[in-house]
Amino acid sequence: MSKNFRVFATCDIGPALDILRQRGYQLEVYPEPKAPPKSLILAKVRSGIDGLITTLRDQIDAEVFEAGKGSLKVVAQLAVGFDNINRADANRYKVPFTNTADVLTEATAEFAFFIMGDLARRLWSAEHLTRENKWGFWHPYLPFLGDEVTGKTIAIIGTGRIGLAMIKKCAGFDMNILCYDPAYQNHEFVSAIQETMDLRHTRGIQKEKTWIKYVSFEDSLQQADFVSVHVPLIREGESSTPTFHLFNERTLRMMKATAFLVNTSRGPVIDEVALARALRENWIAGAALDVYEKEPLPADSPLRHPAIEDRCRLLPHFASAGKITRLSADPDKGMAGRCVQGLIDVLEGNYGVDVKGMPYVVNKEAF
Ligand code: NAD
Repeated sequence: MSKNFRVFATCDIGPALDILRQRGYQLEVYPEPKAPPKSLILAKVRSGIDGLITTLRDQIDAEVFEAGKGSLKVVAQLAVGFDNINRADANRYKVPFTNTADVLTEATAEFAFFIMGDLARRLWSAEHLTRENKWGFWHPYLPFLGDEVTGKTIAIIGTGRIGLAMIKKCAGFDMNILCYDPAYQNHEFVSAIQETMDLRHTRGIQKEKTWIKYVSFEDSLQQADFVSVHVPLIREGESSTPTFHLFNERTLRMMKATAFLVNTSRGPVIDEVALARALRENWIAGAALDVYEKEPLPADSPLRHPAIEDRCRLLPHFASAGKITRLSADPDKGMAGRCVQGLIDVLEGNYGVDVKGMPYVVNKEAF
């Protein structure tokens, strides 16, 4: 098979792209760090490229697939989330698209855990104290204290790949774990975690007995000290369990006033206006966010209000941003490697040209 494929990458995804160059692909990479305008993506697709490498910043919809009709064979996305790609449109045009699940699971989960600790133990405020030379004395409780994570109860919303990885980390911190997922419940994994917890207790590794169980959404919010969100963005009409504004005034008010919310999933899962109010009016104790309804976070976002600064950690969509996770050319380790391999699988007809058998293709139902 000819390897003279033409590929446009909307972003430089690092050294993994050399794999395509070495195979003789004609590769063009958009050189700017910012996302290209949609008009440029349309022009490239219309020029007859075979493959398009995208990130979550690119809106890939019917307009793009129409522009690529007859030539565009694959869209390879550098992310596990693909809410920027219109799946129904991809299916209608029968264009397979790939994602980079699994390789970012542990990095994203550990980041969720770290920002949860940052929020609860008030690391941001504590470092400011030191840097601004306001650390005048050591005192048992002044100027403030944080909340421990160890031994507390966490609700994991969404027990897919990243939710389960987060559970592993929380179990290591002797936390009780409430699980909620309306579509996928991994009872075998939960039983294995319970056995591990019991063994740690029996062997004296953890003092208190801890537990893990599936519960309703309402129970998870009402009982948890921490709530960590690991769902895809699903808009109304896309599924019977949409996640758009899953956290809104009604559901935020179900949480304990002492509880913390952590979101490393997608911004629109939380109604930010309601969350800013929840923080200002102390319905909940704090929030640590990596993702936003609009990215980058607008200058006038209510989440930036100084009154909630000490209770609202704001990170720049950074959860998968580990060096190996983002850039490794090994498809079993890095998003870039997996993205490139997904593209190659489709263009070079691996797996007996059976798109349904290709591990990184998402929309297998179209074929
Ligand atoms: P996954 O598909 O393995 O897991 C998602 C889980 O959410 C599934 O089990 C699904 O059943 C569940 N779910 C669906 N609707 C739900 C609802 N209404 N309530 C509760 N659970 C629901 O996906 P994953 O690999 O674990 O990734 C999860 C999401 O995390 C991605 O879709 C992506 O948007 C986001 N993500 C963000 C970053 C980041 O950099 N911040 C990095 C990686 C992934």
